[in-house]
Amino acid sequence: NQSEPLLEIRGLTSHYGRIQALHGIDIDVRRGQLVALVGANGAGKTTLLRAISGVQPVSGGTIRLAGADITRASADQRVRAGICQVPEGRQVFGPMSIEDNLKLGAFTRPKGETAEQMERMYALFPVLKEKRLLPAGTLSGGQQQMLAMARALMGKPSVLLLDEPSMGLAPLLIAEIFRTVASLRDQGITIFLVEQNAHAALAIADVGYVIETGAITLSGPGPELLDNEQVQSAYLGM
Ligand code: ATP
Repeated sequence: NQSEPLLEIRGLTSHYGRIQALHGIDIDVRRGQLVALVGANGAGKTTLLRAISGVQPVSGGTIRLAGADITRASADQRVRAGICQVPEGRQVFGPMSIEDNLKLGAFTRPKGETAEQMERMYALFPVLKEKRLLPAGTLSGGQQQMLAMARALMGKPSVLLLDEPSMGLAPLLIAEIFRTVASLRDQGITIFLVEQNAHAALAIADVGYVIETGAITLSGPGPELLDNEQVQSAYLGM
């Protein structure tokens, strides 16, 4: 069904003990879209991503993937269903080669596909091909972020969840990472991007959502949100 969202979140709530971190979140991610969720430190971005990937308990609401209710599915079931999260801080395996890191990402797929999928990743990320036999730990921060994305894509996810890919990177590398994320979308990959860097994220997003203290306060086409006065004064220092 082309009209239903690939990822549909309705009324999602989540608690840390008695503290409610998410208050009825509604989000749609359609096939082929790049959707960005922006918000300040502590607004609930990571909690929401973790709830989607199944490592944070949900206290109410639903998460559907291609129409199927996955609200109670385990994290492993969700990966196999096509949700793959690239964690904040990247977490590549430093001593292992780039190629071996990529192979790890293919664990849910038939062995026979690995080589072909790896060639796709090298086409998307040429720098990884050049360095494929080197330990991942020798890559720069931006390159490690690319490896983490490529590793996630080895599993051919239907939706890629990105947690603050620009975190800790120098400005030039941040621009490169956002260009890379936009090009993945241009290749047809569906992406849900969570970012504190609201300007860069909204500039490339088809659809943006603003989260404040656990609730969505604004949503709309990314560039439209960029022009929104409320967003500009709260997040863009204008
Ligand atoms: P950041 O950009 O810093 O990761 P965030 O938008 O991802 O921020 P969350 O980490 O999701 O925000 O936090 C949302 C709220 O939940 C915050 O008020 C935070 O203090 C609270 N919180 C997060 N983790 C825990 C925890 N393990 N125990 C209790 N409260 C938590």
